[in-house]
Amino acid sequence: MLYDPVRRHLSIEKLVTRKSINGLQRKYYRVRPARWYGGIVTADCVGCGLLCKFCWVSDYVMFHPADVGKFYSPEKIVNSLVMLARKRGLNQLRISGGEPTIGKSHLLQVLENLQGEGFSFILETNGILLGYDKDYASRLVKYNFVHVRVSLKGCSESEFALLTGAKPSGFVLQLKSIFAELDGCWS
Ligand code: SF4
Repeated sequence: MLYDPVRRHLSIEKLVTRKSINGLQRKYYRVRPARWYGGIVTADCVGCGLLCKFCWVSDYVMFHPADVGKFYSPEKIVNSLVMLARKRGLNQLRISGGEPTIGKSHLLQVLENLQGEGFSFILETNGILLGYDKDYASRLVKYNFVHVRVSLKGCSESEFALLTGAKPSGFVLQLKSIFAELDGCWS
């Protein structure tokens, strides 16, 4: 049976985020340098609301979000990213390994903390939550060091459903996240 992609994202969010006095914490399972984009430091987060057939994330991480990784405050994950980037002489950062838009206030605080630090941040996203929550896209646009890269799952609603096992309407949310640009959300 096809699942609702928004509901699944919101359910996973309950497992991989928690409130703290330092802001919303998110689970991560590693911070690593990677060769993509010519060199980029990557924090791999736990949890995604899609189940793409081609996903490279291990089954253990994907299906045991409550058991994998550690909670990081926005400040702590920014410190880990920046320290490793400076050590390796890299100026690009990203969050991958799961869906980085899960935990809206966490991601926004991460970006706020990175503001003015001289890094580019590549936001690789499936776009589901950005298509669902228009305010999210409009909040991201103020960070001009952020490059949003929406990864479409197929070329049509039916392909989306085939590749993700989610309801076809999720493809419309993916498109909406891209067309937020027409509303002036993306630079
Ligand atoms: S959206 Fe990305 S992280 Fe999520 S299941 Fe698909 S490929 Fe994996």
